[in-house]
Amino acid sequence: MSKQIRQIAIYGKGGIGKSTTTQNLTAGLAEMGKNVMVVGCDPKADSTRLLLGTLAQRTVLDTIRETGDDVTLDNIMRRGFGGIRCVESGGPEPGVGCAGRGIITSIGLLEQLGAYTEDLDYVFYDVLGDVVCGGFAMPIREGKAQEIYIVASGEMMALYAANNIAKGIAKYAQKGGVRLGGIICNSRNVDREIDLLRAFASELGTQLIYFVPRDNVVQRAEINRKTVIDYAPTSQQANEYRSLAKAIDENTFLTIPKPMTQERLEQILLEYGLIDGLKDDYRI
Ligand code: ADP
Ligand code: MG
Repeated sequence: MSKQIRQIAIYGKGGIGKSTTTQNLTAGLAEMGKNVMVVGCDPKADSTRLLLGTLAQRTVLDTIRETGDDVTLDNIMRRGFGGIRCVESGGPEPGVGCAGRGIITSIGLLEQLGAYTEDLDYVFYDVLGDVVCGGFAMPIREGKAQEIYIVASGEMMALYAANNIAKGIAKYAQKGGVRLGGIICNSRNVDREIDLLRAFASELGTQLIYFVPRDNVVQRAEINRKTVIDYAPTSQQANEYRSLAKAIDENTFLTIPKPMTQERLEQILLEYGLIDGLKDDYRI
């Protein structure tokens, strides 16, 4: 009677806040008593530093390069805040090779070394953003992540990227079981942002699962190499991340997204005033 591990991939444009949000929300899940593993799938290898309190963790690819075939689980997986198991896939040198390889290698090695233990409630994959190469879909293609959340904000490029990611998910959802669980808004304090994100999510056939406010305590915690939950546990922002964790823990609304056309996306952006005034010099 093995229980299902919920395997979740977090996508979104680069710099939107995937790693920050993933680490804070998994810290929230750990506080709730959940057993969690976080697998960083970005060559930047900064998906777990706030959980580990270190500058950077040695990546799976680096470890294989240095240690060869004798790699043990302890070499590639460290325990961080709340006992969260932390792994960084790593990647090729910038501009060389495919980032997807690191992810396949890591997932394969984690399986082989028995990292997916039955006591796990969650595995999160923090996946690099607006990618066109094969790396993008790896956790989905390998049949690992069945549930996706997209981090976005009320900025045009963030929503373009989110819609493109939805296209990718829709493609794999036809064949496999992968589903979109919702959009997480990581606020940029744009006017009418929450309404825009709700409209965007609904057009995609999904939900705005949570609105995370922008708060400078996130940067202060980051400088101290901590999540907000660890650094300022009584702050309002820490509670926001706890609520996000709860929303994901309770979420059962999983859908196949219906990506929109570029025209429809621009229409929504116009409706909410997002590309008003930029028309002349920005619109194509
Ligand atoms: P990604 O992983 O998507 O590339 P990061 O998680 O590294 O993005 O976030 C980019 C920057 O944005 C970080 O410096 C982080 O501190 C900041 N940031 C993320 N979320 C928030 C927030 N809610 N409030 C303030 N700053 C944030
Ligand atoms: Mg990141």
